[in-house]
Amino acid sequence: YFTQILMSISGVINIYPQLAKGFESVHSISEILFAKETQEYQGKTKLKQLSGEVKFEHVYFMYRDSNKHVLTNFDLKVKPGETIAFVGESGAGKSTILNLVTGFYRPTSGRVLIDDLPMDDVSMRSFRKKIAVVPQNTILFSGSIRENITYGLAEVSEHEVQQAIRMANLSDIIKELPDGLETKIGEHGDRLSGGQRQRIAIARAFIRNPQMVILDEATSALDNVSEKLIQDAMKELIKGKTTFIVAHRLSTIQDADRIVVMKNGNCVEMGTYKQLVQQRGEFYNMKMASEAVRSS
Ligand code: ADP
Ligand code: MG
Repeated sequence: YFTQILMSISGVINIYPQLAKGFESVHSISEILFAKETQEYQGKTKLKQLSGEVKFEHVYFMYRDSNKHVLTNFDLKVKPGETIAFVGESGAGKSTILNLVTGFYRPTSGRVLIDDLPMDDVSMRSFRKKIAVVPQNTILFSGSIRENITYGLAEVSEHEVQQAIRMANLSDIIKELPDGLETKIGEHGDRLSGGQRQRIAIARAFIRNPQMVILDEATSALDNVSEKLIQDAMKELIKGKTTFIVAHRLSTIQDADRIVVMKNGNCVEMGTYKQLVQQRGEFYNMKMASEAVRSS
């Protein structure tokens, strides 16, 4: 009994510095996510609702300290609730498109419109409350799993946390950890696989109840169990929401409403999986090439 008291006291002492550290790291996470070269843009119009229509109009984009256009005259109209998958070789500009949708980067020329409002007019604070980003490599900070899931949110009920965990298929992992939800990532982060980390990011996304989801699928292979759990969780997460996915998985590509095939900073083909396969163009060639690699 005495040991228990001692343990809970030391628990308190341990938790608070961790919490403080956690909040410090939230700041550095946002610095990483917002990338060094971006400024924080703040338009005046606060979005009260977001239907999730996104338009790219003649978008050109060049990274700072670069002299090459990564996107050239890119046009795209995405309807509310639509799932768009971007495919194409590495360097084609897929992740850059996601950076523009989140508003972290702005076009060098042309514009991006959200619900018909130019991105520059939109308050990013109000916009980001309504979107969730699941990045390619999930960055976790040195707090507990709970803190990692709820960071940035003022009031979250236990019910919401539990629901997010269930929806993200995290329950089994959490059950196995010594302190469950309160397990510190710092101590056990190295024990979490890429797939488990991505599920934490998905739980983070669920709890925010976003209107729009932006996902950069991990290129690295996941074990089949993780793969399936992530696919299922993602399917739930994106239901009825405008979704942008840089897709590497065949199942994601097949399920998308539309596939945008990117090459050298522009869309070279667009359509459903079936249409693109029938068309026997770029997408078909890519698919054949990757199947050849896999069976060799
Ligand atoms: P993809 O996601 O299709 O692989 P990206 O959008 O990440 O392609 O990159 C498109 C091009 O922009 C690449 O040539 C890449 O090297 C370049 N690039 C990406 N990020 C940066 C950056 N922060 N600064 C300079 N160049 C970048
Ligand atoms: Mg990329």
